[in-house]
Amino acid sequence: MGLIILWFLCGVVAAMIGSKKGEGCGAFFLGILLGPFGILIAVFSRGNRKTCPHCKESVHKDASVCSHCQREIKEPNKIDDESSDVGV
Ligand SMILES: [Zn+2]
Repeated sequence: MGLIILWFLCGVVAAMIGSKKGEGCGAFFLGILLGPFGILIAVFSRGNRKTCPHCKESVHKDASVCSHCQREIKEPNKIDDESSDVGV
């Protein structure tokens, strides 16, 4: 019984960590399923956040303009102006 409570607590802790990264619900289930490992995953997961290259604040991964410094954020893997004809 104690183990179940411990596992549930792991889910709550993982959810608290994950909620700061915008994925609290997913992290909660990770914690429930994986226990302490779910917490570790929540800690090391970047979630759906990314770091603004200009002000180093955490912003949504789909954001093209930083909500903190209002500067444009370029996706490093979406550069298709150059070298776009590779592999066809
Ligand atoms: Zn910024």
